[in-house]
Amino acid sequence: MQILKGTDVVAAMNSKLKKELSQLSTPIPHLAIVRIGERPDDLSYERGAKKRMETIGLHCSSYAYPETITNTEFQKIFADLNADQQIDGILLLRPLPKHIDEQAIASLIDPEKDVDGISPINMAKVFAGDSSGFAPCTAEAVIEMLDYTQIPLAGKQAVLVGRSLVVGKPLSMLLLQKNCTVTICHTKTADLSSVCQTADILIACAGRAKMLNQSYIRPQAVVIDVGINLDENNKLCGDVDFESISPVAALATPVPGGVGTVTTSVLAKHLIESAKRRKAEIE
Ligand code: NAP
Repeated sequence: MQILKGTDVVAAMNSKLKKELSQLSTPIPHLAIVRIGERPDDLSYERGAKKRMETIGLHCSSYAYPETITNTEFQKIFADLNADQQIDGILLLRPLPKHIDEQAIASLIDPEKDVDGISPINMAKVFAGDSSGFAPCTAEAVIEMLDYTQIPLAGKQAVLVGRSLVVGKPLSMLLLQKNCTVTICHTKTADLSSVCQTADILIACAGRAKMLNQSYIRPQAVVIDVGINLDENNKLCGDVDFESISPVAALATPVPGGVGTVTTSVLAKHLIESAKRRKAEIE
């Protein structure tokens, strides 16, 4: 089984992005990362995103607020960031504390600066197949990985295990745009292993440690693991039992070091795109 590492995809993407940046006639694109509190997951993602932006040559600033911030105060921050001409992209770290209305905030972010594709307008564009929208970075990272393999996707059976608004649903639309025949599975899917066995391309995005083993895999399937979980020894693992599938699958992505690694390069790609579009609008 071939292992498709995120770092290989990132290297290819970053060199393209650096070239694009060098040809850009706008000020250096600037990402605002908005965070409430100090959740370790958020801090880790923020560090990774900042490092990736710096590596490519992009600017990035943190906007961090205490958990005591009110809904009204937090909403005002987005009005300010939307109006700030120095800011090209806004990344909101989630989940938010319970007293903050996440849906309302997502609707407040200017869709043109919504580089993680959480606003309803960008969601609608992804579902309409309108390429002017930004897809959620994780969903697009899966497509970047598949594109990197150069495996033809048209006509292939793609099965997703997971239907969240962040990963499964938008990714199903992106795969449809690639002319895959798409099946979306969830907790009520009957005989999940039989459905997964129909997959030329199996996407695991359920958030269940190592739930997909060899009995879910069609011989020579391409397996992309989006899951980030902790196993019984508190070690990071995906939704796929990597060792179990390795005699059967043609290719798989590891966890850690797979899809998660590519996500921030997609973020950088969207940031550059946002800066370009905003400049084109001003001219
Ligand atoms: P989520 O909102 O909890 O959604 C999980 C989905 O999987 C739901 O649709 C659920 O079905 C389905 N599911 C759960 N258990 C299942 C089972 N036993 N059989 C079939 N379907 C099952 O999770 P998410 O936010 O989409 O994240 C999914 C995973 O991706 C998590 O491990 C998360 O950490 C990871 N993730 C990774 C990245 C990255 O950058 N790599 C980014 C985001 C998320 P129902 O709808 O029926 O409940």
